[in-house]
Amino acid sequence: MSIDFSDKMAGETDKQLQILVIMAHPADTFDHCGGTMAHHIQRGDKVTVVGMYQGVHIHDEVIADQMRMSGTTLSDEESEKLRDTREDVKNKEVIEACGILGITDVRFMGIEDKINLINETTIIAIAKIIREIKPDILITHYPVIMQGFDAHGQAGEMVLRAAGYAGNLDFSDPNPGHRTPQILYSNPDNYLAKGSVLHSESNCYCDLFIDVSDVADKITKARNAMVSQQYNGNYARKSVEGNIGKMGDAMGTGYAEAFVRHKPELRYYLPLPKRMEAWANEPEKEQLERRGYMVAPYVDLD
Ligand SMILES: [Zn+2]
Repeated sequence: MSIDFSDKMAGETDKQLQILVIMAHPADTFDHCGGTMAHHIQRGDKVTVVGMYQGVHIHDEVIADQMRMSGTTLSDEESEKLRDTREDVKNKEVIEACGILGITDVRFMGIEDKINLINETTIIAIAKIIREIKPDILITHYPVIMQGFDAHGQAGEMVLRAAGYAGNLDFSDPNPGHRTPQILYSNPDNYLAKGSVLHSESNCYCDLFIDVSDVADKITKARNAMVSQQYNGNYARKSVEGNIGKMGDAMGTGYAEAFVRHKPELRYYLPLPKRMEAWANEPEKEQLERRGYMVAPYVDLD
């Protein structure tokens, strides 16, 4: 048997990509990779985002902030009603935020955010979504944030396990098995700073950055839409500048979203992006002007 190398494994796929983003909380669906998704939608690719949890115990101005301070006992019925009401508010904001970035297929699993340890029921439910959407690229949280302690990391682990299970048949799912060619993890928080001793042992290394300088204003406006968790106003500006701006600065540009590739890439030739080639020997002044590009603090958010 001979192996056909006539295409030299050349280039990138030219099919319309289906990207699936599955994240822990509603705003996580766009605030780690929304600029990157905006690029793909502009190119004509398909993007589906899924929030796993209601996200009302974390980041909700009523439950997670006001009521946390006062303490309240509610019956199961009353608490469910309140959670559902706040969930609706948040989900509407997420749909608006995603709309700013061009993302229209926005889904919510509606799981109450409590402790959310890794569990089979959620993994099987995620696997069904993967079999239905059939992503070419799946994006989720890095599974070992804080050495596996963090809820986002645990969500990422469930998505990773679900991606494995989705490749096989589930007799309760009418869709055939689907094996996702590539999985990307969004930038784990511990890449930016060590927030606790559990962050200290990370060996994570972001190895893929997408330059989102051209859509940094949209990213800021999307964050500003999350009024229920008080991200609007200056925090929207600051968080985009402080996170995505820092990533851009590290990569020699204005704004960048960072990813970790789950699988190494198999190629025929070594890759060299044209920009990396050009930027390697440019005058420092040009490089610093590009890195100094700053739009988030000045975005009109009215
Ligand atoms: Zn979150």
